[in-house]
Amino acid sequence: MSEISLYRKYRPQTFGHLVGQDHVRVTLMNAVRTDKLSHAYLFTGPRGTGKTSTARLFAKAINCEDRSETGEPCEKCDICVDITSGRLIDVVEIDAASHTGVDDVRELIDKLHFAPTRAKNKVYIVDEVHMLSKGAFNAFLKTLEEPPTNVYFVLATTEAHKVPETIISRCQRFDFKRIDTKTVMARLAYIAQSENITVEEEALEMIARHVDGGLRDAIGLFEQLIVDGKLMAAHVRTILGVAGSSAVEKFYGLLMSKDSVETLRFIQELYGEGVDFGQFTKELLEKMRLEMLVRAHDRVLPEGL
Ligand SMILES: [Zn+2]
Repeated sequence: MSEISLYRKYRPQTFGHLVGQDHVRVTLMNAVRTDKLSHAYLFTGPRGTGKTSTARLFAKAINCEDRSETGEPCEKCDICVDITSGRLIDVVEIDAASHTGVDDVRELIDKLHFAPTRAKNKVYIVDEVHMLSKGAFNAFLKTLEEPPTNVYFVLATTEAHKVPETIISRCQRFDFKRIDTKTVMARLAYIAQSENITVEEEALEMIARHVDGGLRDAIGLFEQLIVDGKLMAAHVRTILGVAGSSAVEKFYGLLMSKDSVETLRFIQELYGEGVDFGQFTKELLEKMRLEMLVRAHDRVLPEGL
C-alpha cells in the first residue's frame, strides 16, 4: 500500500469527489461560476465531514487558470497542482487551536494587504476558529468588515456556538452534515477497489456505523483494520467491540419474549465477550426503529398490500 495515508490520498480534489455534502457543493460551485463570492465563509459541522477539504477546493476553484464552465478546478495548472500539494503560499492554513492569541491574528492581518504572489486571490483557511481568544476575534472582526479585494476567508469550526455572533453575521454560513452510513460505505468500497483490498460488506457497515458520519474517521479506521490486504468482518467486530447483527437479533427476540432470566443471562454472555455496550445499544435502537417502521407500515396499508 502507498506511503501516504489513505485519507490524504483520497481527499476530494474536485467538487465532484466531495462526498455527502451536496447542498454545499451546489451552492459553492454556483457562486464560483457566477463570480458571486462572499469574502468570508463559515463552514460548521462535525469533525471529518469535509470542511477543510472543501475550503481547499474553494481556494483552487477561485484561482485555477483553466476552470471548467461548471466551476470545477482543472487539477492540471500550476496553481491547482501547488494548492493540492500545499505549496502555494497564497493559500494559508492556520490552526486556531495553536494560534489563539491577538498577536497571531495581528501578524496575519499585517500580511493581508500584500498582493498575492502567484494566484489571483489569497485564501486564508482558519481551522477550529472557535479557539481564537476574544481579543483575537475583535482584531479579526475589523478585517472581516472591510476585507481587501482578492482576499477570502474560510473559517471552519466544529463548534459554531462558540464563535461570536458579530463574526458569524459577516460570513456566509455552510452547515456540513454527518455523512450517512450508505454514503460512507460506498466511499470505503471505492477506496478498497482502487487499492485492491478485499473487503466484506459487513465490515464496511460496522465501520460506517461506528464513526457516526465522519468520513475521515471512517477511512482512518478502515486503514488500521486492514490485515494482509483484507478487511474482514470478524476482525472489525473484535476490535470495535461490535456484537454483530445476530446478537442484536437474539437480544431483541429475548426482549419480545419477556423472558428476563434468559435476557439477563445473555447480557452476561455479551459482557464476557467484551462487547462495547454503548455500540450495542446504538445497534439495538436501530433494530427497534426498523421494527417499528415495519409495524407502522403494516398498519397504514390495508391488508393484502
Ligand atoms: Zn487549475
